Amino acid sequence: MIAIGFDLDHTLLLDNAVERTIALEMLAQLARSRNVAYDAAAAEAAVDQALVTFRNGKIVLETVLEGFFQGLLGPDESNELEAARFRDVVCERAGEFVRALPGCSELLAALDAAGVRYAALSNGWSPLQEEKARLIGFAAPVYVSERIGLRKPAREAFEFLASHLEYPADQVWYVGDDPIVDCGGALACGMTALWLDWEGRPYPDDVAPPSRRIGSLEELAALVQGQLAGAAKAAK
Ligand SMILES: [Mg+2]
Repeated sequence: MIAIGFDLDHTLLLDNAVERTIALEMLAQLARSRNVAYDAAAAEAAVDQALVTFRNGKIVLETVLEGFFQGLLGPDESNELEAARFRDVVCERAGEFVRALPGCSELLAALDAAGVRYAALSNGWSPLQEEKARLIGFAAPVYVSERIGLRKPAREAFEFLASHLEYPADQVWYVGDDPIVDCGGALACGMTALWLDWEGRPYPDDVAPPSRRIGSLEELAALVQGQLAGAAKAAK
C-alpha cells in the first residue's frame, strides 16, 4: 500500500487570488471612507509585495497588512483593526473564489473507496488552507505551515507528513505542482515525487527531476488504481 500527500494550490484547487482581491477591496473601501485618493496600480503593487513578504515567512500576516494599509492610506488607528479583520473576511468569502481542479472529486472518491490514506501539506495560513480544502470536499487532514511551524521545501515538513500518515517516507507519493517546493522537498525526504504539470510548464534543469510527471488528476487516479492492483496481485 501507499499513502499520498497533496499540495493544495494549483494541485487540487485554484483560489483565484482570494487574498489579493479582498485586500484590494478592503483598501479601496477604506480609501473611500477616509477620503483618501485611491491609486489602483500602487495598491496592486503594494499588496503583491505584502503577500510576498508574508509568504516568505517570519512575519505575521496582520503586521504585514497593517503596514500595507498604513503605507497607502497613512496612519490611522483603524489600520490595525482592519488588518485583524482580514483573515475572517477571506475565510468567509473563500467560497466565491475557490474551485477544484478537474478530476479532483473523482480522485478523492476513488482514494476513499480504496481506503488509501492521504493528507495535504500546504504552505499558507490557518484557517484559510483548511477552509479551501473543505470547499473542494477534501475531508482528510490538512497540515498548514503556519500551524505546524514547518514550511515546504524543508525536509522536516515532509517528515511531519509521513509520520502523521503513519507511513515510511518511501511508501508515500507526494503530488504537487512546484518543482522546488513540492518535488524537491519530497525527494529530499525519500518520498516518490509526482510533479503535476497540468499547466504545461518547463521543469527547471538545475534541480533534481521528479520521480514522475503527470499531466492531470485523472492520470494520477489511474496510476493509483494500477499501483493498488499490482499490490493486490503481489499479495496473492
Ligand atoms: Mg502549489
